[in-house]
Amino acid sequence: MKKRSKTKFIFVTGGVISSLGKGITSASIGVVLKDKGFRVNMIKFDPYINVDSGTMNPFQHGEVYVTKDGAETDLDLGHYERFISRDMTEDNNVTTGKVYSNVIDKERKGEFLGNCVQVVPHITDEIKSRIYKLVSKNTDFLLCEIGGTVGDIESLPFLEAIRQIKLEYPNDVLFIHLTLVPYIKTAGEVKTKPTQHSVNELRRIGIQPDFIACRSENPLSRAIKAKISLFCNVSQDKVISIEDAKSIYDVPINLERQGFSASILDFFSMIQTRKSNYLDNWKIFLNNFYAHEKEITIGIVGKYVELQDSYMSIKEAINHASAYLKIKTNMRWIESEALETENYEKKLCALNGILIPGGFGDRGIEGMINAAKFARKNKLPCFGICLGMQVMIIDLARNYIKLENANSAEFNSKTPYPVIDLQKGQKNIDAKGGTQRLGHYPCKIYNNTIAYQTYKENLILERHRHRYEFNNEFRELFEEKGIVFSGICPQNDLVEIIELKNHPYYLGCQFHPELQSRPLQPHRLFIGFLKISLERKYETKK
Ligand code: GLN
Repeated sequence: MKKRSKTKFIFVTGGVISSLGKGITSASIGVVLKDKGFRVNMIKFDPYINVDSGTMNPFQHGEVYVTKDGAETDLDLGHYERFISRDMTEDNNVTTGKVYSNVIDKERKGEFLGNCVQVVPHITDEIKSRIYKLVSKNTDFLLCEIGGTVGDIESLPFLEAIRQIKLEYPNDVLFIHLTLVPYIKTAGEVKTKPTQHSVNELRRIGIQPDFIACRSENPLSRAIKAKISLFCNVSQDKVISIEDAKSIYDVPINLERQGFSASILDFFSMIQTRKSNYLDNWKIFLNNFYAHEKEITIGIVGKYVELQDSYMSIKEAINHASAYLKIKTNMRWIESEALETENYEKKLCALNGILIPGGFGDRGIEGMINAAKFARKNKLPCFGICLGMQVMIIDLARNYIKLENANSAEFNSKTPYPVIDLQKGQKNIDAKGGTQRLGHYPCKIYNNTIAYQTYKENLILERHRHRYEFNNEFRELFEEKGIVFSGICPQNDLVEIIELKNHPYYLGCQFHPELQSRPLQPHRLFIGFLKISLERKYETKK
């Protein structure tokens, strides 16, 4: 008797090159299945040896996405949450580091006593167990993205594990291979050879893809689909075009135009049993995203702006709020170090608002402080997130309250006024991985504040990732001078939101609101910030 699984497995592998958008493709498959009323969950395998992405430089890895349970994960998990509107957890991101450290721990405890511990079966068993852990009666489809490109040494154990799953559950597994079908300008032709090679590579390790998703500049012609079908041994209707789209949010629509969800249901001999209007709402969001009469320009002042993937969730949260307000927001990425010169004001004066995002280390900090000062003095809306809030506090301390050389202990441990200091619980922590204040914490919002006007609630939950905090020894002094502490964590009296009286919007938060923004549920703080920036732009013009 063949085993059956209630949860169907869809494995997404990638070929030819990296950066084809496997994360967006996987998340988009999630959207079209959700639209058919199915419950979807997702898992990402990252073949690197780090236990999680938390210790990696954003230039190497892009944003570190923090889940509500405090896991530091790959940025694709952000796409998953935004696309399928489901909270991810630590279990939804598995790295080689996690897999190996667990197996080695077990070995040390003697759980394999007498055996030689090997990649097959011990490592592959561990990988499979991570997948099976997410099988549940509340999940119809588990979409599983294998990071890296077929042919990489690192991803081999993961591919071997999913091959074994197909053997165990032959009727419940679907393989989708995402490849590149390039257009060669000089030849004036679209080429299928890289796809053929990459599928061959996959077959060599025992995986025959059921669907081939082709990244291309334009939709594939029938002839090209026929060619890929013949050489790669899949029927023509299972060769899917994933052409360049105007935005990532168009990808589910483009998939559905090719009847993709119906093909998947057909593959598994399933029928739709529940109704949903997910894609209808998605289309409304998309229409709003493109329909705009007014536009504003927001400066994003950070140290990783060269690689905007480092601020993926910020970028998307701005997009969601802009669609909600039906405006276009131009994002001007400003390297904070470039604001450390005399003439920094010139670089900021055409903006309608300034956003200072999170970050670590002292490079470019003085430029961020200058940006905050400029916004404060010119009554320009300013929104600081995590490090951004800390920088606003330093500006207020130095330039408003006149505490000379005030700083964060992160940048100067000898400052006479450590207005930002290490959290109490952090003092004796040496290990770097997973030791910050991470994940969901409650925040009490005080009435008659901008924060309350924005949230319209007295208790909220937001996600965190930081080691330093506002130093409460300075709280009274700041309050006397007109700084409002509008959000406080009730568990330990930690400052979560600050505002400035007599300023239209000088608001900083210690948490990361961008991580909870979704196209169908934009974050209130982003809406508030863009709205005030918009109002002020058109007010000043009158
Ligand atoms: N570096 C700061 C801290 O550790 C801010 C962190 C962040 O912006 N995520 O507290």
